[in-house]
Amino acid sequence: MIDLHNVLYDKSVNCRHCETPFTTKRVRSGSLAVQHRDTDFCTQFKDKSLNPILYSVHVCPQCGFSFTDQFYPKLTPSQAKSVQKNITAKWTSKHFGSFRREEEAIACYKLAIYAAALTDQPHSVKAGLYLRLAWLYRFAENTAEELRFIGMAVDEYEQSYIHSDYTVGDKEMSEVRLLYLIGELHRRLGEFDNAIRYFGKALEFRGRTMESGIIRMAQDQWQLAREEYKNKKQTLGQETG
Ligand SMILES: [Zn+2]
Repeated sequence: MIDLHNVLYDKSVNCRHCETPFTTKRVRSGSLAVQHRDTDFCTQFKDKSLNPILYSVHVCPQCGFSFTDQFYPKLTPSQAKSVQKNITAKWTSKHFGSFRREEEAIACYKLAIYAAALTDQPHSVKAGLYLRLAWLYRFAENTAEELRFIGMAVDEYEQSYIHSDYTVGDKEMSEVRLLYLIGELHRRLGEFDNAIRYFGKALEFRGRTMESGIIRMAQDQWQLAREEYKNKKQTLGQETG
């Protein structure tokens, strides 16, 4: 049995809206055993209740503004006004600063997604929130909600690609990695033509990127998407023929 008090620690954060300091839990990295990495970069840990993504969103108990480290450090006066009117005025103090189960983490992500929309955060930040929310539904085995939020994530990642904001707040993200991820999210949605198109774009980086692991994944998933597409067409053909 893992001692939660050793793995979780308190981090103090200043609210990026009302500037109130508060504490929130964080997972000590290095203390977790990885069980599996999914093809859309979701890391599954042996102890599901300690996945660091459960704790990525900071919810200000005072004003309700919810954000991650990737949000802009400051709000503009008009954004602050919008948060005041749409979030703070309706907020009754809730604390998300201790142990979070999946349901609570899901609530935190929904708050952050709303706050991100009101404050016009980069597409990459919104996409990251949608994708992590989809993963929380994957952990909860709620496939319908998982796919709904994967659909929203892929729209934002495509916007992020168009507007080239994908390195904002995510130093790990590169163009080839983003193209691969967009392809893989389309594949999971059964949108095989789009999946194949984006995997193809990722594969154009072959020989001119250091990220050979991504090229291998793009190759594998491109092959898989082609097979799935073929099977889908055959099934449709049998139904109509
Ligand atoms: Zn606040």
